[in-house]
Formats: sequence, C-alpha cells, structure tokens
Amino acid sequence: MEEIKTRVLIIGSGPAGYTAAIYASRGNLKPIVLEGPQPGGQLTQTTEIENFPGYPAGVQGIQMMKDLRSQAERFGARVISRLITEVDFSKRPYVCTDDRGDRYVAESVIIATGASAKYLGLDDEVKYNGLGVSACATCDGFFYRNRTVAVVGGGDTACEEALYLSTICKKVYMIVRKDYLRASTVMQNRVRERENIEILFLCNTIGLFGEDGVEGAHIVRNMGTDKEEKFDIAIDGFFLAIGHKPNTDVFKKYLKMNEEGYIWTDAPTTATNIAGVFAAGDCADPIYRQAVTSAGTGCRAAMDAERFLMDNDEL
Ligand code: NDP
Repeated sequence: MEEIKTRVLIIGSGPAGYTAAIYASRGNLKPIVLEGPQPGGQLTQTTEIENFPGYPAGVQGIQMMKDLRSQAERFGARVISRLITEVDFSKRPYVCTDDRGDRYVAESVIIATGASAKYLGLDDEVKYNGLGVSACATCDGFFYRNRTVAVVGGGDTACEEALYLSTICKKVYMIVRKDYLRASTVMQNRVRERENIEILFLCNTIGLFGEDGVEGAHIVRNMGTDKEEKFDIAIDGFFLAIGHKPNTDVFKKYLKMNEEGYIWTDAPTTATNIAGVFAAGDCADPIYRQAVTSAGTGCRAAMDAERFLMDNDEL
C-alpha cells in the first residue's frame, strides 16, 4: 500500500476532471487525476461530438478525451487508473483510498465523478449500444435527421429530448409508462402541441430488434393487466430519458447533496460544504450536463482550489 501526497486530488476523468487538471497543472499544483471506472467519462460512450466549441468538423468522443488527457499531462498532471472507494473528509489533509488500498493525502480535492444515465436494464440496450441506443439526444440526435425515433420517459428531460428531436426527426414517439406525463405543465403543453410527437401512454418497452442496428421496439401497453396488448413500433433510434444518477455515493457521509445525490455547491463557486473540497461537472449539475458546461466548472474548481490553497498558506 502506497501513500501519495498531493496538493490537489482530482477524482474523475471526464471534461470537468481533465479541465480542472489542465488549469491546476498550469498553476504548477502538480495535480493527481484518478480516472475511475470509466476513463474519459460519459463522452467516451458517444460517437461524434459536434457541439463542443472549437471543433468545426466535430470530434470523436474518445479522441477528445485523449486530447484532454494529454493536454493535462503536458503540464504535469499525473493520471492514475484507479477508483476511489473510501474518503475521509473529517480533517485536512483529506485522505482518499483507492480500490487497491493506496491512500491519497490531499490538501484539496476536486470531485468530478460525473453521472450515469439510467437504463431500463434490457439486454437489447447493451446489444444496440452505439447502434441506435443513446441516452443523450443533444449528443446523438443529429444522426437521426428525418428518421423516426423513440424517447423513453415522461419527465422534463424526456419532454426536452423529444422536443429537440422533433426538430430534427420525421417522427418522435414518447414511451411513457404511466397514463400521464410527470413533466412540468409548460413542457407537457409544448410536447402535446408538436405535431410529429406521438405519446404512447401506459406503455413499456420489453425489447428492441434490428439487423445491424435498431429497427424497432417491442412494446406492451397495460402491462400486467387483463387489457395487456403487445405491438411493435418501427424506429431508428431509442433514447433513454428516465433520469441520471450522480456518481457520488462514496461522498455521502460528508457532503451536502440534494435528494437525488447531486452535490451541493456554493454557487457561483464550486465549493462544497467541506472547506477545500470542490465539485465540478455532472456530479453537481442536474440541469445542463453538457461537455462544455462541465469543462467550465472544472476550470472554476481548479481556480477555487488554487485560491483556497493560497488563503491557507499552502502555496
Ligand atoms: P424524472 O425523474 O423527473 O422523470 C423520469 C421519467 O422517467 C418519469 O416519467 C418516470 O416515470 C420515467 N421512468 C423512470 N424509470 C423508468 C423505467 N424504469 N421505465 C420507464 N419509465 C421510467 O427525471 P428527469 O431527468 O426528467 O428530471 C430530473 C429533474 O430535473 C426533475 O426535477 C426535472 O423537473 C428537472 N429538469 C428540469 C428541466 C427544466 O426545467 N427545463 C429539464 C430537465 C430536467 P414515472 O413518472 O412513472 O416515475
């Protein structure tokens, strides 16, 4: 078991974590980045990113994350491929322990652990991952121009995604398991007014089908009742919008969070309720969840950490 001392420990390697690493390393803070279970974060799960400023021809998610990593390493960030499984934020320096038992003793910590989209749990979601199944309409919607897609969910996110897709696609189904939408009235009205959105109430998806990608979904209406009815819809894309879960369980004991587990920050800063612990990106953002907004908060977190260290005579 090793003990590694650092002034800035960055937990997570998505756009927030790596942007924090670029800023902290350029500030000569020699940060350590712990990559976590999905190096590069959610963007490595998408194909092309076309909405990150500065890439007029788009960029593959995996490539962008490689670029961000090498940019951080160029200025002295050290990237370690481990997962933090335990933290002790009771006193400074803070101690975070990884899955091998190595301890990181840090004067400041930036949490950038992201969030994971929820899936229905169907085997077909795995089978067609990247072949028609997506959890991000803003990322992947453009690839379904003039095609037919389905959005699962009846909340504000599902309505937003359906509205966004309806401007690109020929037709959008919303697959809603209840007989009503949970979304705000204004979003419900917008969805209902959109001619190319059809809401399938009381419906659940039990499978997907298609040769080389999604060509349709198997649907059950009134599942488990005597009115149960099975039918298929022809679709090219299947978008999940049933919520996200922030990857913050390991910090629950110490950090103030909302009931869904998003870390509270003292906006407009990235400070959490523990001095010297900052949060950036999707783990603290239930609303925007974009690569560019995450990168922005990563930058802010590094600047906040630097200021904190300066105020505490660590620099
Ligand atoms: P929500 O939890 O509000 O909605 C999730 C939706 O997915 C619900 O319709 C839910 O159905 C459905 N769902 C959940 N699990 C399953 C499942 N296994 N099978 C089928 N359907 C399922 O999540 P959102 O991401 O929509 O919103 C999260 C928060 O963010 C909310 O507070 C929302 O208001 C807010 N938000 C606000 C926006 C805005 O103001 N512009 C935009 C986006 C989000 P059921 O209703 O049956 O539980």
